[in-house]
Amino acid sequence: MPRSLKTKTKFIFFTGGVVSSLGKGIAASSLGRLLKARGLSVTIMKLDPYINVDPGTMNPYQHGEVYVTDDGAETDLDLGHYERFLDISMGKLNNATTGQIYEKVIARERRGDYLGGTVQVIPHITDAIKEGICTLAKSDGDWDVVIVEIGGTVGDIESQPFLEAIRQMGLELGQRNVAYVHLTLVPYIPTSGEMKTKPTQHSVKELREIGIQPDVLICRTEHNLDKKLKHKIGMFCSVPDNAVIEAIDAESIYEVPLNLEREGLSKILIKQLGLKCSKPDLDDWKQTLEQWQNLTNEVEIAICGKYTGLHDSYKSIIESFVHSGIVNDTRVKLRWVNSEKVTENKADKLLEGVSGVLIPGGFGDRGFEGKIAAVQYVRENNIPFFGICLGLHCAVVEFGRNIIGLKNANSFEFAPRTKYPVIVLLDEQKKITKKGGTMRLGAMPCHIQPGSKAYKIYGQELINERHRHRYEFNDMYKKQFEKAGMRFGGLSPDHKLVEMAEIPDHPWFVSCQFHPELKSRFTKPHPLFRDFVKAALAYKSK
Ligand code: GLN
Repeated sequence: MPRSLKTKTKFIFFTGGVVSSLGKGIAASSLGRLLKARGLSVTIMKLDPYINVDPGTMNPYQHGEVYVTDDGAETDLDLGHYERFLDISMGKLNNATTGQIYEKVIARERRGDYLGGTVQVIPHITDAIKEGICTLAKSDGDWDVVIVEIGGTVGDIESQPFLEAIRQMGLELGQRNVAYVHLTLVPYIPTSGEMKTKPTQHSVKELREIGIQPDVLICRTEHNLDKKLKHKIGMFCSVPDNAVIEAIDAESIYEVPLNLEREGLSKILIKQLGLKCSKPDLDDWKQTLEQWQNLTNEVEIAICGKYTGLHDSYKSIIESFVHSGIVNDTRVKLRWVNSEKVTENKADKLLEGVSGVLIPGGFGDRGFEGKIAAVQYVRENNIPFFGICLGLHCAVVEFGRNIIGLKNANSFEFAPRTKYPVIVLLDEQKKITKKGGTMRLGAMPCHIQPGSKAYKIYGQELINERHRHRYEFNDMYKKQFEKAGMRFGGLSPDHKLVEMAEIPDHPWFVSCQFHPELKSRFTKPHPLFRDFVKAALAYKSK
């Protein structure tokens, strides 16, 4: 390993086998939380084998939510889990894709960095992968531990360079500095009443063919793994019995760290890596989980959006409701309402009985009119309303049309010829033609206006929230909207951009241009979600 990449950091590489969707992201996040609870500084990196430079240009149905970091990277949704579990903010360095790695290497080749040489997967691509991992390790001083999750399943063609790179790191840094954790499945076959270890054996065999011997196996299972089974898995896979860790199906993802701790996961890794640390302090985590297990109230909130068929598209919103429900002693039941089905006549049927409606972010005009109908319904019926990004655009368009009387007012995004473009393209966006990574992205300061509902909720004048959009409220209409009863509770520091819009004459009608769901954590719910759930509860009890 080149000297420039030397670091004191210990690395834990997380791979997955048998099938996808076993919850590698949750397992990696849980391990991160456990190590952090022992006083170590921990961060996590996701390596994605696909060729897109980032998921920013992918359809949510392909990829799920695009998670945006403070520094404006559009990343994999697993970064959301990392942040929620570890309660730290991540950035560009925490996610890399095959596309990004190749882009870097090809740019170097064009510059002439490899003059005379043939550029190859090994060593050039693998070196660039290692460089990315070590750059993260050295950011913010040296992290004690960097966990690296490799996307996909062992055996995929696409992930081979990543596996080769982490194999090399093990060789170069040694067993005291590098550990491999492999997540597999131990399926239960109901017809024979047996749990099967063969898929795990095969998956580990595949990993060993690449040259990686796992130190720890985490086995996803529906039923407890007894000693005998653990021994069998351990023996076939050359892993000590106590390093065969059971990951039993849990009711909540937030139980997973505690389950894995009980199985001794962090202890084994600490010992192998010689990490000096304290006993785990998981009190606040346990307490929050206990609260979740004993919630006494329930409210139903509708999410009215376009991608309701794939809940992963709204991952952070779903989790934000879990967090904010806990502080309100309330289980938030979500009703998924496909905005394409909503019309002025059907809104009451589709939204009947809910105690709040949230309109999330989105792109494209499909379902937009349905969202407008939903806003009109909740505004007129005093049902709590929360609009996020495109949700703010909907709130503004509906208000323009139905309160001010701007006939057919619309967003320039969907109707560039509209007579009343109440939502327009951001100035800085006007010359942009490239699609990837060019939106207004990342955390930006916002001034909360004293006296507003937003101020009551945040309790402070300066906030910092994450953005991902190209369109914004049209400043030209500000006075007219204010006169008609809309209040702009949050503005950019130069007061040019509307960041929050509310209707004071409504029990709870709040919308924001940013994405608060990206900053909610298990033990620290976001104030806007917290207050929205509180309002929904109040509405229900009426
Ligand atoms: N499509 C809208 C825009 O680009 C809203 C984006 C979003 O909801 N994230 O401004």
